[in-house]
Amino acid sequence: MARLVLKRGAEQRVNAGHPWIYRTQVADLKGFSEAGLAVEVVDAGGRYLGQGFYNPRPSLCCRLLTRRDEAIDAEFFVHRLEAAWEYRRTTGLISDAYRLCWSEADGLPGLVVDRYGPVSVVQCLTLGMFKASGWITAALGRLFPGGSIHRLDDTTAARLEGFDARQDPAGPELVVTEGNCRFGVTPGSGHKTGLYLDQAENRVLVARHAAGRRVLDAFCFSGAFACHALRSGATEALLLDSSADVLALARRNLEMNGEAGRALLREGNAFDLLRGLEAAGERFGVVVLDPPPFTRRKDSIEAAARGYKEINIRGLRLLEPGGVLATFSCSHHITPALFEEICREAAGDAGVAVRVLQTLTQSRDHPVLLTIPESRYLTGLLLEAV
Ligand code: SAH
Repeated sequence: MARLVLKRGAEQRVNAGHPWIYRTQVADLKGFSEAGLAVEVVDAGGRYLGQGFYNPRPSLCCRLLTRRDEAIDAEFFVHRLEAAWEYRRTTGLISDAYRLCWSEADGLPGLVVDRYGPVSVVQCLTLGMFKASGWITAALGRLFPGGSIHRLDDTTAARLEGFDARQDPAGPELVVTEGNCRFGVTPGSGHKTGLYLDQAENRVLVARHAAGRRVLDAFCFSGAFACHALRSGATEALLLDSSADVLALARRNLEMNGEAGRALLREGNAFDLLRGLEAAGERFGVVVLDPPPFTRRKDSIEAAARGYKEINIRGLRLLEPGGVLATFSCSHHITPALFEEICREAAGDAGVAVRVLQTLTQSRDHPVLLTIPESRYLTGLLLEAV
């Protein structure tokens, strides 16, 4: 096995519990044979730190898989995936649709696995995981006998890491249950792996405020927030999205739940549609703002913050007295503190006093490791107009 020697001092972050090693932190690489295979990582003094897949191409060249001296093989993947499954089982997170493996947070950096009924949707995000996919498939076969695997590698990551993303053709539609709702999921078609699983717990939470109220689901995707709200007694829902395909999917889901009759779907840019609703004097008891990430880079945080502020001003102005706003950011670089600051400014500008009912984050099947802040990306606030 090749041996990667860190520069002096570069071990600090690793010792503090973070698995990432950047190219600039590498002093030497001995016995290198092939990109994407596991290497042993030692500090400048030769002290053993662990093992990780190494790829010289991206600047983030190695992510530790283990700090122990153990074989990285099919058995290793069985143990890690079993531990991931066990956490979710004991936490009551196993359902028809859940995230089984969340990369670094489950000790398998570069691997995401979502489960939809009997189907495991597997996303490889590093060359190492791509090359390990035989072991991953075998491990999932052991854990879920009789199930199937749908490969849906991330194309952006694949370009960065230098492998040909494997994306299986869209499979047949599955129907999964999430709380009181049923959703159609077709792995390999559309967004994410089929559902925004990271919002599952928030959808249930928001629905608790929906009875007897009119709901606005902005950036609705498959309409999951609106479906939950309507099933929980919302009087009607208005769903907004810029994509016609997405709205067709949302309509099918509303129909499947017997709620299409009380829903209105509108296609367009939510920034404009929200402004239009405000101008028309519309009011809602529940407003959900769940936009796509407004930035993926550190240098555009300010522009993103302006975007978040604008939609939140509009969302707040659309609240009826006592109304509730569930507002989110899934941009990695927008921290919970910054998001709160943005919403505070929005509330000031909108002239709406709000109480923080709850701070929100991703569902618990997308765990956050305290020493790996990057494992948290979804932040949100549940605000009540007072
Ligand atoms: N709330 C959803 C997930 C939303 S994903 C759920 O719980 O499943 C973000 C959605 O925003 C996508 O469906 C995308 O089509 C839509 N979108 C992106 N930019 C938009 C814009 N400017 N206006 C309206 N919708 C937009």
